Order: sequence, then structure tokens, then C-alpha cells
Amino acid sequence: MFNNNTYKHSNFIYFDAELTNSTSTQKATPWEMALQQLKKAADLLNLEEDLREVLSHPQREVQVSLPVRMDNGKVKVFTGYRVQHNNARGPYKGGIRYHPNVSLDEVRALAMWMTWKTAVLDLPLGGAKGGIICDPKTLSPGEVERLTRRYAYAISGIIGPYEDVPAPDVYTGPQHMAWIMDTYSVLKGHLEPGVITGKPIEIGGSLGRNDSTSRGVAIVVAEAAKNLNINVKGATVAIQGFGNVGSNAAIIMAKEYGMKIVAVSDSKGGIYNKNGLNVDKVLAEKEKSGTVTTYKDAEKITNDEVLTLDVDVLVPAALEQVITKDNAGKIKAKIIGEGANGPTTPEADEILYQKGTVVIPDILANSGGVTVSYFEWVQDLERLQWSLEQVNKMLEQKMIKAFNDVYEASKKYKTDMRTAALTVAVSRVSQAIKLRGIWP
Ligand code: NAD
Repeated sequence: MFNNNTYKHSNFIYFDAELTNSTSTQKATPWEMALQQLKKAADLLNLEEDLREVLSHPQREVQVSLPVRMDNGKVKVFTGYRVQHNNARGPYKGGIRYHPNVSLDEVRALAMWMTWKTAVLDLPLGGAKGGIICDPKTLSPGEVERLTRRYAYAISGIIGPYEDVPAPDVYTGPQHMAWIMDTYSVLKGHLEPGVITGKPIEIGGSLGRNDSTSRGVAIVVAEAAKNLNINVKGATVAIQGFGNVGSNAAIIMAKEYGMKIVAVSDSKGGIYNKNGLNVDKVLAEKEKSGTVTTYKDAEKITNDEVLTLDVDVLVPAALEQVITKDNAGKIKAKIIGEGANGPTTPEADEILYQKGTVVIPDILANSGGVTVSYFEWVQDLERLQWSLEQVNKMLEQKMIKAFNDVYEASKKYKTDMRTAALTVAVSRVSQAIKLRGIWP
């Protein structure tokens, strides 16, 4: 069961942190929500019935039973899924998630969202998602490897560099990707690095992927600032969350864009210095003590206060549903760059839209990761190795183009950036389906 609070409001939520065993009655499942979003965009686009019908169904759903020899000698059977939503624009693309609350309904919704995410960025890819119902924290490294390889074997007939290219998601990372690539390659009899992205650099991973999500956030925030005539250099920034996305965004925004990071936070609380934080020193403090809150040269604030500071830019980079109808009216930032997935509720979206706040939606703002995944795939197919500068330059071009496509759509359809991003995506995928036609 899903936590009602998680699902009833979220737009592009990825559900990682909020999955619970709650038995409360729920309004909509993730898939039902995904369908509602599709309908909203389709209505705005006046999309014909046939295309709505096609887009409302994943093209393929696979459920696999995975017998794994556990360390205690017994065999346990896990359940895994791979849902391929749409490949009209290119091979399916989407991560693999290990979580006790993985369900077919959730994976199906995530697959559809991947179709929209690759389409917003105009990547020649489709959308898919995979998952295994398991609690990786209770598994030994050997059990995780055996489970991963068995899953790779089980789905080997439907993935491939020209068919479906998975990637990491919740509780999976480069090592899992290496095992999947190895299993697939052994089965095929030759090395096939293009079957999966997010691999270690040594075996075909791309430079620049580590901080690509954060770099993408910085790029679109800077672009939004330009559109609003806010001087990027010296623009003040508050960041909630100082993990992978938040800390790298702080470093890139401060060092490469000259923005002034005045506040950051983690699960223990926040810190604020109106003259700007030294991000290197904050990072060093976080590494030393495990939290940013012990950093000396700043005043302590709460996580809620981080959201409502008088800044130009707010980057939620931690949890879902932190910007709600209760605090949206107090937000002073002119730009919100959604590093996290689903940080803003629809009620808050409406309040922010009326106020004129530019909310760069997660589907666009945090898509730097999938974009560099695409670059990794191209390098693997062509046996190329691009420099960090090349990767970052191409990422910038892709993100700026996507931002402007969505910005234009928001003006054309007189709607918020989130709905605009969906219309751009749905329109591109529909066009591809229409041009290719239905056969046989
Ligand atoms: P992470 O685990 O590295 O970092 C999360 C940070 O949030 C940590 O600093 C943690 O202390 C902080 N945090 C936790 N609870 C908090 C609270 N109550 N208040 C404030 N801060 C709190 O995770 P991440 O990879 O940086 O991902 C962050 C978000 O970005 C997630 O929503 C994730 O789905 C999304 N995202 C990440 C990527 C990626 O490439 N890593 C890509 C797309 C989207």
C-alpha cells in the first residue's frame, strides 16, 4: 500500500522516500495519477482519441520470478518487473529500483514518466522502468549480486542497446550496472557496454555523470534567471538537502556561475549566512561531522525556514512534498529549481503560479542525469570516450534548449512550467507515433 499523502498531490513524484505500509484509503494509485496527468496535457493539446488510447497503455510489461541461493543455503524467490511504456522515439530508457514497496502499478507509472522525461529533453529514447521487490539493506553483497545477475538473465531477452537500456535508480548504482552489463555480455558472447548506463568509468561509464543532475539544475536555474532579468552572478540561493544533488549544485552554482549560496540544510537542520557560505568549507564540515549544522560561520535555521528565505533561487534537493499550500504563500524566491522529485504539491503549484514564481519542474530540472546517460550510451555504441568538457558542453546545450521549449509552451498554453513540460513531451511522443503509424 502507498501512503495516501504521498500520492494524492504529487505530480512527478518518484516515491522513493515516501513509500510506507500505510493501509489508509488512497485517492489514486501512481498509475492512475500518471493517466490523469496525461489527460490534462492531452486536453490542452486537443490530442486525438487514438493517440490518447495508445499512450495510455505500456507497450510491454514483464514480471519475473527470481530464485536466489541465499547465504544460509536456502532458495528464496524474488519478484521483479520491467515495464516498457513507449519506444516511438527510440529504445526504452529507465532505471531499476530495489525497494520493498516496488509494485507493478508504481513501475508502470514510473515508466510513463520516463517517456515524458526523455521527450522533454528531446533525447532519441523512450521510457521504461524496472524494479525488484526486496529490501537491499537485509541482503549480503553476495546475495545482491546473485539477485542482480538473475534479474539481468530473466530480462535479457527484452533489453539491449537498441531495445531497452536500463540505468540505476533507488538503491542501485554503478556496481549493479556492471553486473548487469557483464551478465548480458556473457550471454551474448561479446562485450555490450551500451546495454546499460550508469556504469563505472572503467567499463564504459561517462565522465560527468556524477554531478550531471546538479549541473542540469544549475543550467536551467541560470537560464530562468536570464529570462527574469535577474543577474546570475551574485544571485542568492537557498538549497534544501546537501546530498549528491544539493551539495554538487551548491558547488557548481557558486564556483561556475558566481551565485551566492546563502543557506543549505540536511536532515539535521539548516545554516544561513547572508554574505554567502564557503561551500568547500561546508562540504568539508559535512564530511567531518556528518552534518552541515556544525559549520561555524553561519546562523542555524530550520529546514522550513530554508524554504522561505528572501533569496532569488530556491533548490529543494531532498524530499518530496516540502512545498505545500501552507508555505507556498511565504516563499520569496523568484525561481524554484526542483532538484528533488515531487517537492511541490499541486495546490502549492497553483499558489506559486499565481504569484509569478517560476517553478522549473523536476521532469526538466533534474533530467541532467538521464541526459548524460544518453551521452554514455552513444559513446558505448560508437566506442568513443568524450572529455568532461565535451560532455558538460553538450549537457548545457540540451538543457538550455529544453528549458526554452518548456518556457515557450508555458506562454503558448498560458500554463505553469510543469504542465507545459508535459505538453511538450506528450506532443513529441504523439507526433512520433503518428508519423510511424500503426502496423500491422
Ligand atoms: P542523497 O541521499 O544523496 O541526499 C539527500 C539529502 O537530503 C541529504 O543531505 C539528507 O541529509 C537531506 N535530507 C533528508 N531529510 C531531510 C529533511 N527532512 N530536510 C532537509 N534535508 C533532508 O539523495 P540525492 O541523490 O541527492 O537525491 C535528492 C533528491 O533528488 C531525491 O528526490 C531524488 O529522487 C532526486 N534526484 C536525484 C538524482 C540523482 O542523480 N542523484 C536524479 C534525479 C532526481
